[in-house]
Amino acid sequence: MTRRDELATGLAQTRERIARACDAAGRDPAEVTLIVVTKTYPATDVALLVELGVTDVGENRHPEAGRKLAELAGLGVTEPPRMHFIGGLQTNKAGAVSRYADVVHSVDRLRLVDGLSRGAVAAGRTLGCLVQVDFDTTDPGRAGAVPADVDEVATHMANAEGLRLAGVMTVAPLGVDPGPVFTRLAEISERLRTSHPDAIAISAGMSGDLEDAVKAGATHVRVGRSVLGERGSAR
Ligand SMILES: *Cc1c(COP(=O)(O)O)cnc(C)c1O
Repeated sequence: MTRRDELATGLAQTRERIARACDAAGRDPAEVTLIVVTKTYPATDVALLVELGVTDVGENRHPEAGRKLAELAGLGVTEPPRMHFIGGLQTNKAGAVSRYADVVHSVDRLRLVDGLSRGAVAAGRTLGCLVQVDFDTTDPGRAGAVPADVDEVATHMANAEGLRLAGVMTVAPLGVDPGPVFTRLAEISERLRTSHPDAIAISAGMSGDLEDAVKAGATHVRVGRSVLGERGSAR
């Protein structure tokens, strides 16, 4: 099997999972955007995915993300995919990421909002931003704003030049039932939309739990392994 065939198979199986989950939830699959998480995989895979119709890819590290995007032109990709930055982001790298990312899912503090805003303005771009919410009460070091801080981060984002408040994101904590976590995220989203009606994105669900996320109302699922296979390294 060629790599193209492998990716086509993984993609078809993943799309089928999303379609089934939508069916079970009475939702239209067109409401759910598949973001294929290509972290640790080469730009050649991204190029094949684009050929196979993928429009949105996710990366979690700078500068790997930008470098891969830059390599695509040399691989004959004329219409690059939308780049979703989904990983923890140091404030001092925000400017660089805002030059190439289209959406940043991992915004969890005011200073990061400021950094992204400065970078977006300098680059003459508008960056979609999601507030990452963390529901893990056992590990204070995890990325994400605690639920009580979401409104403050969101309001700051909505008022920041160069940024568009697009919605909310979470990564379900390990070892807990993801369903209730995604339901809480959906409740936070609903509350947020009373004051920010355009912030409709709910980014939730990965290879292991995308069905739970779709059931709870996710508009974006971030899927790596189910499309590309197991990653070699520990992330
Ligand atoms: C790696 C990653 C994913 C994708 O995980 P898979 O298990 O490969 O589907 C989704 N979201 C974030 C934030 C990630 O870092």
